[in-house]
Amino acid sequence: MKTPVTSKTIIYIDMDDTLCDYQTSHDAAKVKQPEINYPQSQEGFFLNLPPYEGAVDTVRWLIEQPELQVLLLTAPSVLNPHCYTEKRVWVERHFGLEHCHRLIISAYKGLSRGDYLIDDKTSGFGQEDFQGTLIHYGSSAFPNWPAVKMYFDKLITATLHPVQYES
Ligand SMILES: [Mg+2]
Repeated sequence: MKTPVTSKTIIYIDMDDTLCDYQTSHDAAKVKQPEINYPQSQEGFFLNLPPYEGAVDTVRWLIEQPELQVLLLTAPSVLNPHCYTEKRVWVERHFGLEHCHRLIISAYKGLSRGDYLIDDKTSGFGQEDFQGTLIHYGSSAFPNWPAVKMYFDKLITATLHPVQYES
C-alpha cells in the first residue's frame, strides 16, 4: 500500500479569472491597443493582472489552516513563454517568495490529486477529470472570495473539526 502524500485536505486554486482578473485586463488591452489580437501574448500581461478583492486575504487564511494544504494550479498560455515566469513572479509579489513552492503550472489539471479545485472553468484544462470537488468560482454558489471563505470556514468547523459530544 502506498503511503499518502499528505493527510491534509488538498486545495488547488486556479489563477486566471479565479485569483486574478484576466478578463478585465484582456478587454481593456483590446480597447487600448486594438491592433494587438492577443494581449495575453504580450510581455508583462500576466505579471500585472490585479488580484480579485479578497482573493489574497482568503488564500492567506486558507494557508494558515493547519488541516489544509494549499497549492496554486494554473494552466499556461503556451504561446506566451513569458507567462511561465510571470506567474511565478506574481505569486512572489502577492504572497511572498516562501509561497512560490505552491505554484504548479499544468496544462492538464485532471492529473492533480486532491480534494478541492477552485476554478472559474469546469472544463478545458482537465477540470472535468479532477477527482475531487470542483468549487466553481464565479458561479452563483461561489460568486466571490468571501463566499469561498465561508464555504471552507464551515467545512473546517463541521468536517475537519467535528464537534465532540460527550457520550
Ligand atoms: Mg481560470
